[in-house]
Amino acid sequence: MINRYIGSFIISLVISVVAVGAAAVYLRSDISYTGLEVARLRGDSIAHIVQTVRRWNAMHGGVYVVTTDTTPPNPYLDVPDRDIIDSYNRALTKVNPAYMTRQISEILAGSQIEAGLTSLRPLNPVNMPDDWERKILNRFEEGDGDTAVELQGDVYRYLAPLKVKPECLGCHQKYGYELGDVRGGLSIQFPVNQIESLLGGIISRSQYLFYFAFCTLFVTIFISLSLFNYFSLRLASSRKQEEKLLHQASHDGLTGVFNRRGIESLAAVEFINSVEKATPFSVMMIDVDHFKRVNDLYGHSVGDQVLICVAREMKDLLREFDQLGRYGGEEFIVLLPGVGATKAGKIAERIRETIREVQIDVESAVSESSLKVTISIGVAERGRGNFEQLDELVDSADQAMYAAKHRGRDRVVVAE
Ligand code: GH3
Ligand code: MG
Ligand code: MG
Repeated sequence: MINRYIGSFIISLVISVVAVGAAAVYLRSDISYTGLEVARLRGDSIAHIVQTVRRWNAMHGGVYVVTTDTTPPNPYLDVPDRDIIDSYNRALTKVNPAYMTRQISEILAGSQIEAGLTSLRPLNPVNMPDDWERKILNRFEEGDGDTAVELQGDVYRYLAPLKVKPECLGCHQKYGYELGDVRGGLSIQFPVNQIESLLGGIISRSQYLFYFAFCTLFVTIFISLSLFNYFSLRLASSRKQEEKLLHQASHDGLTGVFNRRGIESLAAVEFINSVEKATPFSVMMIDVDHFKRVNDLYGHSVGDQVLICVAREMKDLLREFDQLGRYGGEEFIVLLPGVGATKAGKIAERIRETIREVQIDVESAVSESSLKVTISIGVAERGRGNFEQLDELVDSADQAMYAAKHRGRDRVVVAE
């Protein structure tokens, strides 16, 4: 029982750990996926703002700003009206979307959010892509226009394709670009910490939920298994008890062979079988000779030991489907289904001879010794006597046994 409880404990533990562990692993992978999706949304928002500002600039064909050391004329802008003097005699230079984006990215550099241009064919070498950007830009060029997002160390990286729009054609058509072409990408990155602290909060709160789920699952499985074990054990023991009672009802407590009730039930079945199938069926009545003397000389306990030994020896001599029962005190009955009188007589002879040769070791309160007994056997066959009732067959075997007694005992008589 204790072993079963230990077994239930281990099974409950394993199931709970596996189930809750799998749920925790699933949640973790789902949360890191969610982290990427949040990063993608954030990247989308930043890209949207930057692209809107760029479109505003392109819409005006670039905007003029005062030329300074930090905003010198853009060497990559090849237009005749790049540098002008306004009516106040100030030197102005044209800032196109690319130049504007670069300046924005310089302002953003080192802050929480960084953004810049990148291209597989940059006019400005500063915009040369790194390995990751090149991989994604190639993908964009192959027609996969989805934005890319990836967690690299402690930063999320985001890349959105920059496509040629009508307002871009004014400047970019001369480089061979057409409407909708991918000109490059807007590369954005921001630290993981903000999103991580948001998701980390969910993970740490969910841990309590997992502890609770684990305990509940463990206790539920353990109690269920324990109850199941308890009731199945009770059921098994009551079945065992029932089988024991059934066995006791049909078997002899001393010799272990069938008792009178048990052997009579079997005999009734064999008798009907023999009638229905018209097969031979023989019965032997066996009685120990002068058994009273054994009791008188050695005591009742020795008599019991003799009965046990005689029953065991006879059982060993019989076939599997022959049945042996104790019919009365020192009287036994043997059922021989499918056996005719002649063969039954031979079997009886063999039993008689064996028993008379057996040295029966007995133990009494005062000594240990060995003794021998003989038996008288009466045999009757259903067909030979044309018996219609089992009682008639048994009576006939009984009478044959008494005839054997009268003829001097230690012999076999087959009823005619
Ligand atoms: P016979 O050769 O004519 O059969 O003589 P017998 O002495 O064997 O026959 P009888 O019927 O006179 O005696 C049978 C004895 O068997 C009487 C009874 O005390 C004894 N007996 C019956 N049942 C048991 C038992 O379970 N144990 C022991 N030890 N003796 C028993
Ligand atoms: Mg007897
Ligand atoms: Mg007797």
